[in-house]
Order: sequence, then C-alpha cells, then structure tokens
Amino acid sequence: MKEKIHPEYKVITVKCACGNVFETRSTRGSFTVDICSACHPYYTGKQKIMDAAGRVERFHRKYGKFEKDRERGKAEGGSQP
Ligand SMILES: [Zn+2]
Repeated sequence: MKEKIHPEYKVITVKCACGNVFETRSTRGSFTVDICSACHPYYTGKQKIMDAAGRVERFHRKYGKFEKDRERGKAEGGSQP
C-alpha cells in the first residue's frame, strides 16, 4: 500500500436507537443509527413502524376517538340481549 494516501481504518462502535451496540471498522468515527440488524423487521419478523415525523401519533390523535367510540359501541351492543 502506498504511504499516506489511505485513511485510518479503525475499529469503531455503532450505537442503534434500539439500544444495540456493535463494533465494526470504519474510516470515520463512532456513530449512531436508527435501525440495525437486531431491530430491523426483516430480521425480527415483527412489524416496526418507522415513525420519524410523529405521523402515527398524529393519526391516533385524529382517528383515535373513532376507535374508542367503536369499542364502546361494541361493549354496549354485547350487553344487550
Ligand atoms: Zn437496532
């Protein structure tokens, strides 16, 4: 390898939003990621909603009351003969 043209390829730690921390090698420093192989739905098989802009919360605020109404209606309907 030629001298002084290659960046330093060092061991770094990557921290995920799910709490997982793993080591890898990179020319940049340690950094954080939003998703990793431990929490990505492809690997976990579970659904995870990517909610970067609070869209799910906004949806529940807008439509949450309808769901509650429906649940209440179900309960009342069940108590009747
Ligand atoms: Zn993760």
